[in-house]
This record gives sequence, C-alpha cells and structure tokens, in this order.
Amino acid sequence: MASVRKQPQRACIGCGQMKDKKELIRVLRTPEGEFTLDATGRKNGRGAYLCRSAECLERAVKTKGLDRSFKMAVPKEVYEALREEMKALGLC
Ligand SMILES: [Zn+2]
Repeated sequence: MASVRKQPQRACIGCGQMKDKKELIRVLRTPEGEFTLDATGRKNGRGAYLCRSAECLERAVKTKGLDRSFKMAVPKEVYEALREEMKALGLC
C-alpha cells in the first residue's frame, strides 16, 4: 500500500522559513570542497537552501547565511553565482 510521501522541507538561509525543497535553490558543497548551485537537488554533498527570492538572497548575504550553514567562509563568488541565478530566473 502506497502512502503519500511528505515533501522534504528545508529552512531557507535567508528568511529561515521551512519550505518544500523544490521551492528552494540548493547550494552544494561537493566532497572536493567546491561550491555549486544544484538545480536538481540530487548531487551528493552538503547543501544549504535559499528561497527563489532576491530578498532572501540579500538577507543571506547580510547575515552570512551560507557561511553559517557550511560553518566556514564561503567565497563571495558563491553569493554572486546565486545572484546570477536569481537574475536568470527573473527574480531581480
Ligand atoms: Zn527565504
């Protein structure tokens, strides 16, 4: 008998709200220590999640949400890549 699978939820590093994973952009740290945006959410590694919202991105930049989430200094380029991604999505 099939049961309805609950959507996995994750907290946005900007606003802290819990959302369905599919509503969030996943930032991934690969086992090699590289940061990448993971649109599919299927790659291996440690992830942080952010709403598809320019506002949440700015909040994350201000509060160093990624740094806190990964417990290390995250290069500016990663935030820039997120900004580009938001632009590509037409969010800012
Ligand atoms: Zn958010």
